[in-house]
Amino acid sequence: SQTDSIKDYHYQTIDKLAVGIVHEIRNPLTVVGGFLQLLKPYLIEIGKEQYVDIALEELKRADQLIYEFLNESKPSEQTPKRISLNQIVKDTSLLYECEAILKNITIRNRFTDEEIDFVANDKQLKQVFLNLLKNALEAIELRQDKSRNGIIDYYTVMEENRAVVVIKDNGCGMNEQTLRNLFLPFHTTKDTGTGVGLSVCKRIIEEHHGTITVESTEGFGTMFRIEFHLR
Ligand code: ADP
Ligand code: MG
Repeated sequence: SQTDSIKDYHYQTIDKLAVGIVHEIRNPLTVVGGFLQLLKPYLIEIGKEQYVDIALEELKRADQLIYEFLNESKPSEQTPKRISLNQIVKDTSLLYECEAILKNITIRNRFTDEEIDFVANDKQLKQVFLNLLKNALEAIELRQDKSRNGIIDYYTVMEENRAVVVIKDNGCGMNEQTLRNLFLPFHTTKDTGTGVGLSVCKRIIEEHHGTITVESTEGFGTMFRIEFHLR
């Protein structure tokens, strides 16, 4: 099918890029990590060592992602285990907390009373939600109307036997053309975008037998829904 050939193209291109880029990106990451370690004592002094820990964790994750998505071009072969969807939403929110505060954006969480747990690959699911959160933050920065406060609603809800995660922003929204193409690899409307984020999200969600859908109004905002069918 056309989608498969686009996927193949995506993988082949990434394989080629990988050879040249992986080492080049890993080196600066190592340098940044080194300097962060040097800063740690000062942050401990003012009780903010959590920040440096998060930054180092993120560097590690970036390094791993480069390895997984560029070098292997297939998602990591982590053995699936029982995961808590609420915990994944909490963890990924925390990672963007700092950036959201700096950009004056509120991330509002809400969780199901009952724990939602099922067997999944938690690294991959985190990757999905981080990509979606990043897009939401960027969409808020990109909107024309700066009078409204930036808000991201990021929550879990059970609908019958479906576990649902919603990420809703009041950012720039999308036009018809973008809505039609947003899951295609390399489709981006951003100056510095890669257009890889959502195609990776879709692939991972489908590998988890879930669905990802989107509703968007240009100038008003966007809502992504990820649904997992539980037994
Ligand atoms: P990138 O973020 O690098 O552009 P993505 O695959 O993550 O690539 O997204 C593809 C495109 O989909 C974006 O360039 C943007 O036009 C659109 N998009 C994705 N998420 C949102 C959102 N929350 N609000 C508005 N547009 C979005
Ligand atoms: Mg993106």
